Amino acid sequence: MDGSELVESPGALPVADLHCDTALELQGGADIAGHPEGHVDIPRMREGGVALQVFAAFISSALPPDRPFAEAMALLDLLDGACGGHPDALVRARTVDDVERAVRGGKVAAVTAIENGRAIEGDLGKLEVLAGRGIRYMTLTHARHLPWAASSGEAGDGPGGLTAFGREVVKAMNRLGVIVDVSHVHETTFWDVVRVAKRPFIASHSCTAVLCPMARNLTDDQIRAVADSGGVVGINFFPAFLDPGYLQKRGASIQALFGEMERIERETLGDPIHRNAEMRRLADEARTAMGPPEAGIDTLCRHIEHVAEIAGEDAVAFGSDFDGVTDLPHGMTGCESFPAILARLRTRGWRKESLHKLAWSNFMRVMKATE
Ligand SMILES: [Zn+2]
Repeated sequence: MDGSELVESPGALPVADLHCDTALELQGGADIAGHPEGHVDIPRMREGGVALQVFAAFISSALPPDRPFAEAMALLDLLDGACGGHPDALVRARTVDDVERAVRGGKVAAVTAIENGRAIEGDLGKLEVLAGRGIRYMTLTHARHLPWAASSGEAGDGPGGLTAFGREVVKAMNRLGVIVDVSHVHETTFWDVVRVAKRPFIASHSCTAVLCPMARNLTDDQIRAVADSGGVVGINFFPAFLDPGYLQKRGASIQALFGEMERIERETLGDPIHRNAEMRRLADEARTAMGPPEAGIDTLCRHIEHVAEIAGEDAVAFGSDFDGVTDLPHGMTGCESFPAILARLRTRGWRKESLHKLAWSNFMRVMKATE
C-alpha cells in the first residue's frame, strides 16, 4: 500500500499498531469478536481503521523458570485460534506480502510477537522454534533483569547490559527475521544492541524521556539510534509513560505499579480468569484513586511529534499497549480511537503523507527490511 491510496478522511488511513496485550484477554476467555471490557476487538479494530495489529505473547517474570517457553507457545496457539475462528476478519501475517494480502481482502493482519526474552529460557533452539511460529519481534526483557540482559524496570544494571549470550540472542534474532525490540530494556542493554544489531531494531511501545523522564522511556540519543538503525519507535498510550504528573499525583511509581501487577501474576498463576479479574480491579482502583488522567490525545501527539522532530517522520509509529495498561489518555477508549488521534494530528499540521508513514508505512518498511 502506498500514499496513492490515501483518501481525504484521516479516519480512512490504515493503521498498524505495534503492541497490544490482548492475548492475555483471550487467555482469560474473552472473544475477539466482541470484548467491550478490553481495548481491542474485531468490530472496534474495523471502526479504528486498524489493518495490522501486533499481538504480543507476554511472558510474566512471575512464571516458574520451566514455564516461559510453554506459555509463549500456548499464547501463540490462542492467537492462531482467534484467527482461525474468525477467518473473515482476522488473518495471521508474517511478511509484508501476507499483510498486503490480508488488507486487500478487507481483513486485519494479525502479527505475533514475544514480550520478554525470558520466553526462550536461555536456549537459542527455543528462539528458533518461536521464529518458526512466525513471531516478528521479541522484547529482550520485561520489567526484570534476565541473566543475559538488563531491564529498565529494576534497580542497577543486572548483568550490565547484554552478556556474551545476550549478544548471541541478538545475532540469532537478526538471522531468523525476529526484530529486536528494545522496549523495557536498560540503557546498557540498549547500547549493546546498537553495537551488535545488523538489522533495524524497534522500540515497539515506548515514549520519550524528554517529555516524561523515566528509565522506561527513550532519551533523544536512544531515539536517534533507533532511527539510525532504520527502525521505529511505537509510541505507547499509557498516561504514566506520557505525563510525568500521572504517577506523581498519587505518590506512586512505575516500579510500584509493575510490582503490584507481578504480585497478581504470581498469586493467580495458572488461573488467567482470576488474574484478569484482579488486573481489572487494580486498574479500577488506580483510576478511582487518580481521577481522570490529565494526559489527552494532544499529550500523545507531542510525543509523536518529538520523535518526528529529532529523528524524522520515518522513525515514528503507534505502539498502543492496549490491554496491557491500566488507563488511557482522556478522549480515548481503545482501538476505535485511532481516527481521533489522526484527525488531531491533522489539525496540528501533519500532512496526509506523513500520517500515512506514522500509521502504516514506517512499520511496513521495517518488516520488509527484516524478513
Ligand atoms: Zn510492555
